[in-house]
Amino acid sequence: MANAAQVQRMSRLMIKTLRDDPADAETASHKLLVRAGYVRRSSAGIWTWLPLGKKVLENVSRIVREEMDAIGGQEVLLPALLPKEPYEASGRWEEYGDLLFRLKDRKGSDYLLGPTHEEIFTLTVKDQCTSYKDLPVILYQIQTKYRDEARPRSGVLRGREFQMKDSYSFDTTDEGLAQSYALHREAYQKIFQRLGLDYRIVSAVSGAMGGSASEEFLAPASAGEDTFVDCPSCDYAANTEAVTVKVAPVDGGAHGPVEELDTPDTPTIEALAEYLGVQASATLKNLLVKVDGEIVAVGVPGNREVDLGKLGEHLAPATVELVTAEDFVDRPDLVRGYVGPQGLAGKAFRYIADPRIAPGTAWITGANKEGRHAKNVVAGRDFEVDDYLDVVVVEPGDPCPKCGTGLKIDRAIEIGHIFQLGRKYADAFELDVLGQNGKPTRVTMGSYGIGVSRAVAALAEQTHDESGLCWPREVAPADVHVVAAGKAKQTELALEVGERLGAAGLRVLVDDRAGVSPGVKFTDAELLGVPTIVVAGRRAAEGVVEVKDRRTGEREEMTVEEAVARLSA
Ligand code: ATP
Ligand code: MG
Repeated sequence: MANAAQVQRMSRLMIKTLRDDPADAETASHKLLVRAGYVRRSSAGIWTWLPLGKKVLENVSRIVREEMDAIGGQEVLLPALLPKEPYEASGRWEEYGDLLFRLKDRKGSDYLLGPTHEEIFTLTVKDQCTSYKDLPVILYQIQTKYRDEARPRSGVLRGREFQMKDSYSFDTTDEGLAQSYALHREAYQKIFQRLGLDYRIVSAVSGAMGGSASEEFLAPASAGEDTFVDCPSCDYAANTEAVTVKVAPVDGGAHGPVEELDTPDTPTIEALAEYLGVQASATLKNLLVKVDGEIVAVGVPGNREVDLGKLGEHLAPATVELVTAEDFVDRPDLVRGYVGPQGLAGKAFRYIADPRIAPGTAWITGANKEGRHAKNVVAGRDFEVDDYLDVVVVEPGDPCPKCGTGLKIDRAIEIGHIFQLGRKYADAFELDVLGQNGKPTRVTMGSYGIGVSRAVAALAEQTHDESGLCWPREVAPADVHVVAAGKAKQTELALEVGERLGAAGLRVLVDDRAGVSPGVKFTDAELLGVPTIVVAGRRAAEGVVEVKDRRTGEREEMTVEEAVARLSA
């Protein structure tokens, strides 16, 4: 018996494909999802999911749901419209700044549209769980989230309204949290594998969420807004801000005494290197910053840049700011553009250096006098380093910390993020349960997100080709796209094939549109990206169709019987 629901006739499908890219679209997923009629822009960063798009979105959601259920997650649905108070209690009403959509009800009370739900889940568990026996618990939802992103772009990749799976774990012990985290990590691996996404797991710097262990799941794609380092020979991958580069120890060798040089008008490394005819890498650049208001100098080779994000992470919770002209007013010892650590490190400022400024290495650096530099300034002999920290912006070719091979830097889309939050939210809301010892025990939490709508765009980015979308089977809106390429005979055969494939349990799209040329139908089939295309064409009268693999382009003629047997196998 044919399962009618599995066979979608295109003559009855609301779909309008476009030949041209939308004017504002820069990325492939944005162009193709719009052109193929999967989504339409409603307003900036806000999207309508049309019938085929909704099917793909549902397929992604189903996979996420199945794997979350498999680790014991319980699905709930919390409101998206939330009162201000819990977000005030956690500090995020302020912290989120302009990212938060805020609104008032008719009585003038403040509300927000949820960007993520740590606060409300914490309160839900506080209400529902009272004893250690009620834990551990993993709760999740697949829900619409709202963030007033500064630059909503790339279609559904970065929306202001988007679908997220967010889950939260609640445990009484640190070991329990580690276990819940490990379960999520494995579930995520299964989810992304089933989705057919190429992904890497990288350790992340935990931002505004607060907390400790945190990893991101990145889908490499040129349209991505994240950069990450990837080792071409081992499995090492990391967020660019989280890389710690292993620097080989150097043999300092013998160096002559410090020698001062007259170098007029050379306040920048470029000017200095040109004036002396040396490589920038032979010079030592000293960047002055203020750490909690105190001046600190950061020494790096002249050809490298300081990564302020990395520096901030190393020095957190202290704040790091760049110095301004005012900071030099009462400091005649600091000569702007000509600062050197010799004589000053550890006295005039705390001196932080990149590990490349290893003991025994000699440098050309500022002489602490206007228009003068010094050469043969040797680390450990002429100045001491207070702290060696990895603070330079990572560059392609830097050694892999695991195997030493030169690293690559690639772009990627963040598709998932897992955090061990610890007790931050439990403390804010005094979430305790009765412990085994009869005393209140503070709960420890994890939070875990997957961009469900973003995953659709990430898949489109990774799998499309020049003709259109090219879905992996599990997320495709149909298994088979049958094209009636001709008149009545072809349409009749196409519908018959569709019915038989549907009866065999396959999801089928049949292009039975009248008055649409075979050429247009072929172009649309390529654009829509269903994994198998069956064409009822020239040899329809003989009961012969052509079966084509959308990805490889391989095609083969066979009888309808053979096609049905082959495709339903
Ligand atoms: P991003 O750095 O891309 O802004 P995020 O780190 O702020 O993301 P999380 O708070 O970790 O995002 O949210 C969990 C997941 O939700 C992300 O890993 C991402 O896949 C997805 N996501 C976040 N913001 C958006 C958005 N504006 N549009 C679509 N998906 C998003
Ligand atoms: Mg994130």
